Amino acid sequence: LRSDDEQMSSTEKEIEKALRPLNFGDFTGQEKVVENIKIFVSAAKQRNEPLDHVLLHGPPGLGKTTLSHIIANELQSNIKITSGPVLDKPGDLAGLLTNLEPYDVLFIDEIHRLNPVVEEYLYSAMEDYRIDIMLDSGPNARSVQITLSPFTLIGATTRSGLLTSPLRARFGINARLEYYDAKLLTQIVKRSSDILNTPLEEDAAYEIARRSRGTPRISNNLLRRTRDFAQIKGTGTITMPIAEMALRALDVDQNGLDEMDNRILSTIIQKFSGGPVGLSTIATACGEEAETIEEVYEPFLIQEGYIKRTARGREATPMAYKHLKVPLPGRSGT
Ligand code: ADP
Repeated sequence: LRSDDEQMSSTEKEIEKALRPLNFGDFTGQEKVVENIKIFVSAAKQRNEPLDHVLLHGPPGLGKTTLSHIIANELQSNIKITSGPVLDKPGDLAGLLTNLEPYDVLFIDEIHRLNPVVEEYLYSAMEDYRIDIMLDSGPNARSVQITLSPFTLIGATTRSGLLTSPLRARFGINARLEYYDAKLLTQIVKRSSDILNTPLEEDAAYEIARRSRGTPRISNNLLRRTRDFAQIKGTGTITMPIAEMALRALDVDQNGLDEMDNRILSTIIQKFSGGPVGLSTIATACGEEAETIEEVYEPFLIQEGYIKRTARGREATPMAYKHLKVPLPGRSGT
């Protein structure tokens, strides 16, 4: 999977951190999810109980990690952060769990990628705040039970469908984050430009927002790059012409599709006559991992109506043909 974290310099990480909302008030959009979570958090606090375990799902960059930090802040608790693929052995998980203080939040990103053995240990931890650890093997094998502090697990996933049912059943709170509309993203872009002390004109803010694939992380990235263009090619202010220049240079097209989005659409249309074509075939032809296409690109292309998922594979819609200015088959000449 492409990881923005790995490609980022430490300064960029600092900026990313500065742009991250720290409380519900600064978290724009996802109104319904936020309203519900606020109630669950207040109720748990009033009862002096840990917040029930929370599963957050939705495409990358929509605010799952941000929301988890906010929840921990509101609970006045610490948050420990890890991810499914990192928790390789039961011992890794046991180490984390036994170090939690009462009401702490344990955040597991990409929870659908947990090792099944590790996942098994999570069940009793989530349910009864205890883990049974096996010592030795063979005739000397015995298990010791460790009692944990009551804690809240927040799991984040881009693929809730890949969660096993026993794991899914142990989350009392389940919330799906949706893509943001341009108006909400405009607010996010403006807030970020204030934090970065970069003057930004209203129409330019909307243009960046509109072309961000419904994703705050992309809005913030485009804002940072546009700011570079404003500094080097302009007067420091992000104006509409500067925003357009930057977006063109970054291969973000008029509808906000990026280079890979367009490559996926043209592959389906040009190489596979519009589909249906299987995901792994598209992935090979595009030089991208199937998993990344499925988690990052496809959800947005489907939501915007460029492709359809059918039982036989992915199909390009008439909108995709129009976008690429390719005549619809069987209707050439019209
Ligand atoms: P995810 O965990 O879903 O991949 P993140 O929580 O890391 O996404 O969000 C990426 C960035 O987008 C954050 O650093 C934050 O700056 C910004 N962001 C996400 N959601 C919001 C929001 N609702 N309001 C403002 N900024 C947001």
